[in-house]
Amino acid sequence: MRIVLINPYNPRFETKTFPPIGLMYLSSYLKRSFPDIEVSLIDARLNRTSCSEVARVVAAIKPDVVGITAVVDNREVVHQLAAQVRSLTKWVVVGGPYATSMRQVILQDRNIDYLVLGEGEIPLSKLVRNLQNEAVQEPVDRVMSRNFPAGEVNLLADTVSALDDLPFPDFGLVRVADYFRFSSAMGTHAFRQTWPVASSRGCPYSCAFCHSHFGHKHRTRSVLRFVDEIELLHRSHGVFHFDIFDDIFNISEARVLDFCNELERRKLRIRFSFPNGLRLDRMTARSIDRMAECGLFAFGAPIESASERIRKKMNKGLNMAKAEQIVRHAAMRNVVVSGFFIFGYPTETQGEAQATIDLACKLPFTLASFQKATPFPGTQMFDELPPEKKSELMSFLSTAGPFTYSDSPNVSGMSDHALRKCYARAYLKFYLRPKVVFRLLYLLGPALVLRLGGVVLRRITTLRSSTRFTQCKEAWTR
Ligand code: SF4
Repeated sequence: MRIVLINPYNPRFETKTFPPIGLMYLSSYLKRSFPDIEVSLIDARLNRTSCSEVARVVAAIKPDVVGITAVVDNREVVHQLAAQVRSLTKWVVVGGPYATSMRQVILQDRNIDYLVLGEGEIPLSKLVRNLQNEAVQEPVDRVMSRNFPAGEVNLLADTVSALDDLPFPDFGLVRVADYFRFSSAMGTHAFRQTWPVASSRGCPYSCAFCHSHFGHKHRTRSVLRFVDEIELLHRSHGVFHFDIFDDIFNISEARVLDFCNELERRKLRIRFSFPNGLRLDRMTARSIDRMAECGLFAFGAPIESASERIRKKMNKGLNMAKAEQIVRHAAMRNVVVSGFFIFGYPTETQGEAQATIDLACKLPFTLASFQKATPFPGTQMFDELPPEKKSELMSFLSTAGPFTYSDSPNVSGMSDHALRKCYARAYLKFYLRPKVVFRLLYLLGPALVLRLGGVVLRRITTLRSSTRFTQCKEAWTR
């Protein structure tokens, strides 16, 4: 059997790319499960390959299965691709967060045969076995088709429980150095030789806005196995900086310290960052110190909101005093700390949003990112919306056109105009302060600061030109 896995490219938005690590994990797992299978990868994002060019490559390979990974940002391209490869293969399978959250809508596309929901290795392997045996009607946990649509989906069913049993991602599918021209997911552009790795899957917390793609059970790789992968990438592929993509890396202080000790024992002089953020109130000053000694460069600090009321609605349960202490300690150790904030949470007021801007400016963050709250189906945040907002969101998410977060319906207690002004004010107030500029210059250097300035300006202009925002509709309050 021949399988082609595709990482689609959306020319409208994507200016950077990340290694398709999820597809590389699927490939190595499939190859180990079915030694006679052939798996190819088309990373359309890497070379900015159009759908028609991808289809030409697929036609040459003549695969039995085409698998497409989908996030909501590239949804329009996923459907275009499915249409173009439909006649070139027997089965079209879509996976990734977009498949998981918008499953009922995606399956209306007759060009797509199956959806793999949540973590892909085991359900995709079972599906492939059924397809090999011509048992196309046989139901598989977390696989959905028009023949066996899933009702309630248990995202933990049939997940890999012992992560050390997973083979390494299939490095044979890519040339690692091809990805060095792109920046770290932290957006700092500080290191060229960057590569993503993960030491765990899942998160025991239940933030109301979170997809929890890997479920709420926290599963870890052993520190030895994790550092084996880092060592291989460093010594054999020249990777110097690692983006550690765990949903939550620092559940256990002992494990964080073991990780540092292992890096030191193997004399691995690398740098590493946490683009998904660390859980601040589980962090300790000792862990920060050890990680800083062993190469910690940057981490995300997900505070989300200054308002205790909003954090409670988010199920964030964050100990703010502890979080502030950790941010200050990390800044003192010259670690790049990026504050993550959300605006426009349901019922959020202008006063609460302003308090968030003030908090972002009060703490010694190096960077700050302000995102618009977008409730996706499958999250508690979506479930709690009033029916009219749910249907407005579903129609926004179901339209085939381009997706931007800034165009998503406003679910806050502010008018569109007030919410839009919050973003511009937040970015301008945060970045146009001499001490932030000096800290950025000191930690990142002038060239990187100029590039970062471009990114921030693009964000502000995207928000200002957002079609939905400019409509300035009536404020919606619950
Ligand atoms: S801590 Fe992070 S990964 Fe865990 S539920 Fe909250 S947002 Fe999701």
